[in-house]
Amino acid sequence: MNELALLRRIQRKAPKPGPGVLLGIGDDCAIYRPEGAHEDLLFTSDMTIEDVHFRREMHSADSVGWKALARGLSDIAAMGGEPRFCLLSLALAKWADQRWIDGFYRGFLRLARRTGTTLAGGDLARAERTACDVAVCGAVPPGKALRRDGAQPGDGIYVSGRLGGAALGLETRRGAAWNKHCLPKPRLEFGLLLRDRATAAIDLSDGLSLDLHRLCLASRVAAVLEETIPIFPGASLEQALHGGEDYELLFTARADVEGAVRIGTIRPGRHGRVILQGKQLAPLGYDHFR
Ligand SMILES: [Mg+2]
Repeated sequence: MNELALLRRIQRKAPKPGPGVLLGIGDDCAIYRPEGAHEDLLFTSDMTIEDVHFRREMHSADSVGWKALARGLSDIAAMGGEPRFCLLSLALAKWADQRWIDGFYRGFLRLARRTGTTLAGGDLARAERTACDVAVCGAVPPGKALRRDGAQPGDGIYVSGRLGGAALGLETRRGAAWNKHCLPKPRLEFGLLLRDRATAAIDLSDGLSLDLHRLCLASRVAAVLEETIPIFPGASLEQALHGGEDYELLFTARADVEGAVRIGTIRPGRHGRVILQGKQLAPLGYDHFR
């Protein structure tokens, strides 16, 4: 079983979205339109778990806090949203002392301040391992949210920046790549720019190969990568194709967008299939269940 299969199973069993829920399970965020509201609300939640997403001997408390929020903000960015508030539930293992907790909140709140995201509540608990869940609420003008399912044959495929930096950072733990791994900057401003330009979008959390596969599946199209993929200095093509946690935006559009690099074209074909140099690119990005 992989994450996509598990998700489909849950989707099948969950009741149809209730009134106001314009988009349910399966995108970067859910979309909710309150009655009479002048904007659509976006909701996302992400877990960050010790020894899964971070290691206490490797990652500073500050970066764990920063990244825990960055992951949700990146989903808001992928929908073209502006963050409004977040909820943070934090379970602390015995080893997490006051100093670690202060560091965690320092990193978390630094990114919250920078992006205008209010920390509005949450929960605290004890656990065997330190873990947190961050829910973020964002907003977009009605009907303007970017989704994964709007790509059409003929659209260009674009990325908002160079790829593979976070994977390289995890390997070398040095320099700009390590910084990219520890303190990723969610592409919120770029997401706003895409509202009227992109036909579909997703954030690159698990790697280009897997996230493009997901976008193509949702849009019921295939993709051909025929242009040079922008690679983070020092990273390998493997890292750029399959490395996770870059938190750049991957999107499709009918015309070029300044600041983004075109890497391919959407084609009709087997849903979800991605072709690179004449061969099918396996979706080898990060999957918790593989
Ligand atoms: Mg996402």
